[in-house]
Amino acid sequence: MKLYHLSSGPLRVNTYFLVNDATREAICIDGGENYKLIKRTEEENGFKIKHLLLTHAHFDHAGNAAAIKADGAKVYVSEKDAAKLLCGGTLAENFGRSFTPVGADVILNGGETLNLCGMDVEVIATPGHTDGSLTFRTGDMLFTGDTLFFESVGRTDFPTGDREELIRSVKKLFALIGDYKVYPGHEDFTTLSHERKYNFFSDVDI
Ligand SMILES: [Zn+2]
Repeated sequence: MKLYHLSSGPLRVNTYFLVNDATREAICIDGGENYKLIKRTEEENGFKIKHLLLTHAHFDHAGNAAAIKADGAKVYVSEKDAAKLLCGGTLAENFGRSFTPVGADVILNGGETLNLCGMDVEVIATPGHTDGSLTFRTGDMLFTGDTLFFESVGRTDFPTGDREELIRSVKKLFALIGDYKVYPGHEDFTTLSHERKYNFFSDVDI
C-alpha cells in the first residue's frame, strides 16, 4: 500500500489516497472540491479510485463526491452525514459555493471493519464537529477529518456540532492503544503520541 496526499482549495483540505500497489486500485479519503486535481493525481500516479470515504459531509471535504461517484467510485459516509449530502447540510451555501447532491452507496455506523482494495479499514464514530463525523484507521494511520488536528481540534459552532461530543471523541482516539500517524482534514500531519502530550484538549474535562 502506498499513501498519496493532496492539499487543495481555499480551505486547504487534505485528500488522501491509499493505493494497492499490485492492482493500482485506490481508496480516497475526502475528495475535496476540485475534481480536476483528483483526476490529475490519478493519471499522474497511475491509480483508480474505487471507494470514496468521507469523514463528514462538509462541502470542502465532499464537494466533488458526485463527480468521483460518476467516475465509478462508491461513496461511504455516516447515516447522519449522508442526509446532509442530499439536502443542504454541507455548509456550501454559507461559503457561497455550489454543491451537487450525492447519494451514499454505503452507510457507516462506526465499529465496522471494511476490506477495500485489499486493505482493512476500521470505522470509528467520532461525532462532535458534525453529529456524523467519522475517523478511519488502517495500519498505523488515523484519518481524523475535522475531529483532531495538529495541536487542536475541529470547530463545533456549525449545525449539529457539539463541543462535549467532540471532546469525548478526541479522548476516544487518545485512548487507542499504541501510537498512530494522524492525517487530519486540514493542516499538518501529526502523531497520536504528540497530541496526547501537547494537544490543548487532552487536559480539558467534559
Ligand atoms: Zn468540516
